[in-house]
Amino acid sequence: MPASPHYDLHSHTTLSDGTLSPQDLVCRARAQGVDVLAVTDHDVTDGLAEATVTAAEVGLHLVPGVEISVTWSGVTFHIVGLNIDPAHAGLQAGLARLRAFRTERGEEIARRLEKHGIEGALAGAQAFASGPILSRTHFARFLVAAGHAQDMRKVFRKFLIHNRPGYVSGHWATLEEAVGWIVAAGGQAVIAHPARYRVSATRLRQFIEAFRDCGGVGIEVVSGSHSAGDVAGMAQYAKRYGLLASCGSDYHGPEQSWQELGRPMVLPAGCVPVWNDWPAPDVQQP
Ligand code: AMP
Ligand code: MN
Ligand code: MN
Ligand code: MN
Repeated sequence: MPASPHYDLHSHTTLSDGTLSPQDLVCRARAQGVDVLAVTDHDVTDGLAEATVTAAEVGLHLVPGVEISVTWSGVTFHIVGLNIDPAHAGLQAGLARLRAFRTERGEEIARRLEKHGIEGALAGAQAFASGPILSRTHFARFLVAAGHAQDMRKVFRKFLIHNRPGYVSGHWATLEEAVGWIVAAGGQAVIAHPARYRVSATRLRQFIEAFRDCGGVGIEVVSGSHSAGDVAGMAQYAKRYGLLASCGSDYHGPEQSWQELGRPMVLPAGCVPVWNDWPAPDVQQP
């Protein structure tokens, strides 16, 4: 085992809105020097079985995870669950409800885009989805491919965020539900990419307190979407609220070249890693 294993605790596969299969994601992570990888698809755990098999083959330690969509105070937040038991019935019932909402929301997104003059968005988005969830990412890929926007960043700004023609507000899990499902399934709940939410600092602190009050234990201090300043700020929050620190790329595939797997992710001094009390990872030298 390497002296200091390389952890990446947030990643996506084709079962949600990533572009690599679980097998390809795990192989790429291993090749890029990741020792411990959490696969955390949006509202689904169906990629974990394949990822676990491949991880054993390539000597990587796979952490079973999920990223749950939450509505809190009218805003969408994401909660990552780490080391969950994917067989837990309560967790699966909750995730099934969120996936059903995704299907209805997708139909409504398509209706709104049609009113805006864009036809065939539902079938178009579905063609980019190979797993059981429909994501705005799939609509985004369709819209870019159909020439309605230049790239993924622009397409969200033009169509898929608040006050844009294809935006439908979320009715996701409550914070209590999401943390409760993760804890019931034996996992640790972690706030995903905390610096990315478009809320005031006061609101974010209230959210962190509410999260901790219902059993959340960690916060992503290092994230693929965090600046150096964000990392420092979130490390302060981790200390202030007594939360464990996590790090994850939030990798979605090689097309998103700014978020690579295996990029060095070092937690600032003073952070207590979320893996502090985990058993030693099962890693073999490649
Ligand atoms: P959904 O959960 O279906 O509402 O989709 C959210 C997903 O869209 C996130 O997990 C990201 O992968 C992606 N996303 C959100 N905003 C952006 C953006 N501005 N640029 C690229 N991808 C985005
Ligand atoms: Mn995503
Ligand atoms: Mn997220
Ligand atoms: Mn994510």
